[in-house]
Amino acid sequence: MLKLEHVSVTFHPGTQLEKKALTDVSVTIHDGDFVTILGSNGAGKSTFFNVIAGKIPVTSGKVFLDEEDITEQKEHIRARQIGRLFQNPAMGTAGELSVEENLALAYSHSQRGMFSRAVTNADREFFAEHLKTLDMGLEDRLKTPIGLLSGGQRQAVALMMAVLNPPKILLLDEHTAALDPKSAHKILEITNQLIKQEQITALMITHNMKDALENGSRLLIFHDGRITKDFSGAEKSALKPEDVIHFYEV
Ligand code: ADP
Repeated sequence: MLKLEHVSVTFHPGTQLEKKALTDVSVTIHDGDFVTILGSNGAGKSTFFNVIAGKIPVTSGKVFLDEEDITEQKEHIRARQIGRLFQNPAMGTAGELSVEENLALAYSHSQRGMFSRAVTNADREFFAEHLKTLDMGLEDRLKTPIGLLSGGQRQAVALMMAVLNPPKILLLDEHTAALDPKSAHKILEITNQLIKQEQITALMITHNMKDALENGSRLLIFHDGRITKDFSGAEKSALKPEDVIHFYEV
């Protein structure tokens, strides 16, 4: 369970550049939730993710993971329990290293807190077995430099890197936005497959209303640094684009 209590974030406080990015955000994300997030540019969505990942400190409020207060916990410590994917699949993957070396780096870090790109035969088998489940032929590309894959293939490997040792929380930061429609669809499909299979709690920021409505069990809408709408269950399932467009400007 991930819980934010009265979290506010103000950038450059006390200066002319002062900007309140989050205002008194309180929310509890339950285990197994798949939460989609909509909101206009500048609404505070990325700041919300940065707070959860420990990338930026809160100005006030608290963050809990499974009842543990992690408000002061450093980003690299949290990274073992909180995975993150970005819009650009190049973020978080090393283009000159092979698919298997990238997987090894992520796996060693999530398991032992240290980065190692050494790949044993057992690792190779383990990686190939997992990649096979994506049905993209990536198990035959283990030795290929990841930079030579297509955006969709590279994002699929990035997704696998994030879930090989399943994190408690997976943050998906517009992770399909840079892909062509077919690849985006495939990545969303395997995202659903993996988070269900590994029982990962996931949050996904998207500007694609259809994706936000058709995926996940809960929808949060951000506006002006606050969560202004929170739909779940049957209420979320019944939502149509025209029901939510009024709650924020795109
Ligand atoms: P979103 O992800 O919804 O587009 P952000 O969380 O990126 O919104 O930004 C929320 C507000 O905080 C915006 O007004 C943005 O300009 C501001 N902001 C974000 N990061 C910084 C920063 N590092 N320094 C100053 N202002 C920032």
